[in-house]
Amino acid sequence: MSKFSDLDLTKYEAPTHGDRIVKKDGKFVVPDNPVVPFVEGDGIGPDITSAMRKVVDSAVEKAYQGKRKIAWWEIFAGQKAMDKFGEAIPEDSFAALRYFGIGIKGPLTTPVGGGFRSLNVAFRQILDLYACVRPVRWFDGVPAPLKSPQDVDMVIFRENTEDLYAGIEWEEGTKECRKVYDFLTKEMGKKIREDSGIGIKPISITGTKRLVRMALQYAVDHGRRTVTLVHKGNIMKFTEGGFLKWGYEVATQEFRDVIVTEKELWDEHDGKLPEGKVLVNDRIADAMFQQILLRPSEYDVLATANLNGDYISDALAASVGGLGLAPGANMNDEVAFFEATHGTAPKYAGMDKVNPGSIILSAVLMLEHMGWQEAADLIVKGIEDTIKEGTVTYDLARQREGAREVSCSRFGQAICDNM
Ligand code: NAP
Repeated sequence: MSKFSDLDLTKYEAPTHGDRIVKKDGKFVVPDNPVVPFVEGDGIGPDITSAMRKVVDSAVEKAYQGKRKIAWWEIFAGQKAMDKFGEAIPEDSFAALRYFGIGIKGPLTTPVGGGFRSLNVAFRQILDLYACVRPVRWFDGVPAPLKSPQDVDMVIFRENTEDLYAGIEWEEGTKECRKVYDFLTKEMGKKIREDSGIGIKPISITGTKRLVRMALQYAVDHGRRTVTLVHKGNIMKFTEGGFLKWGYEVATQEFRDVIVTEKELWDEHDGKLPEGKVLVNDRIADAMFQQILLRPSEYDVLATANLNGDYISDALAASVGGLGLAPGANMNDEVAFFEATHGTAPKYAGMDKVNPGSIILSAVLMLEHMGWQEAADLIVKGIEDTIKEGTVTYDLARQREGAREVSCSRFGQAICDNM
């Protein structure tokens, strides 16, 4: 009998080995053999996931000489889930992530007739993974449009559940849209063109505070110097402006001992951040887009509402040439689901060709989340040295003269060799 008898599965076999990560007194307790559920993904998913697992296993083995090992356990979503179980995401996958609190996935196609509009959004919504976390840095040897890409080292915390992405909108010309139009124009006295589609932008105290709290805690835990609240509160006062106000409330009420606001920095500290403190400031979103290009070294952790975070994550990753190397995770206080941030690139499926960097760096984030920093550092070193020496997959090779183009699996092997 499985030792995970309280894990409620109807379709999957429970893992046969490994232990469960649990949370005690607000902290994760990670066993030496943690079960990590993984979704292989569609298209190029199997290639990059296989490379990622080999790199992670090799780093963990090197860092802890056999004392620690991940117990990988496959769970299903996307086409493979359709083929095996006739559903795009079987309920067991959600149960597994809730139970083990961790997981990693390759990219997913939403199968036609799968019952979901987007599988990625389904994971976020059903598990209430309220923060999308995207670290962005440059790797030496990656061609980048920015003049000093080495100055970029930021982590974006994007709110994942509300804002214009909440899906509350009505199509122009429909009965429902007319009803909302009538309410807004007649009862609320607002002026709207009659031939408009209408969308609603909810931003809540709850959604904002838990997101900003996570960003601040991350900054404190990882010795980051600044948390910037990115907003458009000058225009959208009660939504984006609320995000700003409630963000500062979390900072000043819950992190008072460890933070300094920008006003305090100048009023009380002559512009010099006291040792060990985190500066909390804010920037209007359009100005922030300038700042990430002009003064990236001044920024560290960004906390954003959903839409702003979507734009800024991709813009920042592109500025260091690294959309294909951008890691990410969707998480809440109990579950962290790490992912490749690109799509399934179906034309390269099964060709062992593409860059596995995104999912490997997501695994680095996962190891850091587990507190296995030594293994995480080994992988980062492996990637840095591999790219620097010019051993790269086709996407980077075509931009770099003299590079040695290798396959997806060979790139993974080179990372292992360079650890
Ligand atoms: P995509 O799969 O990201 O691919 C677009 C292009 O990006 C590829 O053709 C390739 O460029 C490049 N690329 C992507 N991943 C790469 C990698 N690992 N290494 C090197 N190059 C890489 O975007 P898409 O074609 O728009 O979407 C395809 C499918 O993926 C859709 O079904 C979409 O819904 C899904 N999707 C899933 C996710 C997710 O699961 N998180 C995210 C986005 C899209 P070149 O052609 O220039 O070589």
